Amino acid sequence: MAAETASAAARHGLSHQEVWIGRTGLSFGVERVLFQERSPYQEVAVLQTDAFGRLLTLDGVVMLTEHDEFVYHEMIAHPALAARGDAKRVLIIGGGDGGTAREVLRHGSVETLDLVEIDGLVVEAAKRFFPHLSSSFADPRLKLHLADGVAFVRDAPPETYDLIIVDSTDPIGIAEGLFTRDFYTDCVAALHHRGLLVVQSESPFDPTQAHVVREVRRLFEALLPCARTYLACIPTYPLGLWSFTVGAKTPMTLEEPAAAPPFAHELRYYTPAVHRAAFALPAFVTHLLES
Ligand code: SAM
Repeated sequence: MAAETASAAARHGLSHQEVWIGRTGLSFGVERVLFQERSPYQEVAVLQTDAFGRLLTLDGVVMLTEHDEFVYHEMIAHPALAARGDAKRVLIIGGGDGGTAREVLRHGSVETLDLVEIDGLVVEAAKRFFPHLSSSFADPRLKLHLADGVAFVRDAPPETYDLIIVDSTDPIGIAEGLFTRDFYTDCVAALHHRGLLVVQSESPFDPTQAHVVREVRRLFEALLPCARTYLACIPTYPLGLWSFTVGAKTPMTLEEPAAAPPFAHELRYYTPAVHRAAFALPAFVTHLLES
């Protein structure tokens, strides 16, 4: 597939950006490099692609495209918020592009949102090139902290948040600590007794990362009385099918929205029916979780 796309891109006079898993690649036709800079943490790049609009990469890994970002951002935010119904105090770890914050702030119940991003350059790039995501930074309920999420949560006062969302990069380098038992233990301590924790937990199709889906679920089960895995289809994340893990400090039904969100007509992926369906796991994912 990568080779075919590369030659098609060359025919149209485009260069291309490739993302590899083993020797399997996903390739984007690139019209222009809009931004490329190295921060102390990673290389941040914004590329104009031919088919997916603007593409944000960190160290060459796809973070989002304009064309399909709505899937990830709606699905990391709305299932937990809709299941709980009345979350007031929310914390996002990572998420420096502002997309998850945009979705969280649609909920009228949310009074304060702390967003903890380690890399100010991601926020800067999002403000310049992805205004439909980063407009969330102008909301007075949002407070941006440029800090390491691991330390922030370790130091957070207990029983503070109704919802913590971990919108992180893959579990390597700066994000490695966001996938550990210690970090999740600190998250649980920072949650209100009816609080929820939701994290992006990688792709069950990716042979190099599928174990993360299982390990995150096991850690949630060890630390929280109720934990579930759910899925969404994200075309530009390698291998397409993405997992999220959600848990609650008090047993509750996570698979069912308390009510349809009043802004449902503004959404492009999440619906109450999609919420329920996302928790129905294909057999191979159930086997992965049980293995
Ligand atoms: N949707 C993306 C994905 O799964 O590919 C992730 C979004 S990206 C904006 C995640 C953000 O997490 C990055 O901007 C990165 O800088 C940030 N991040 C990584 N490790 C972090 C840490 N330890 N503390 C806070 N933010 C972190």
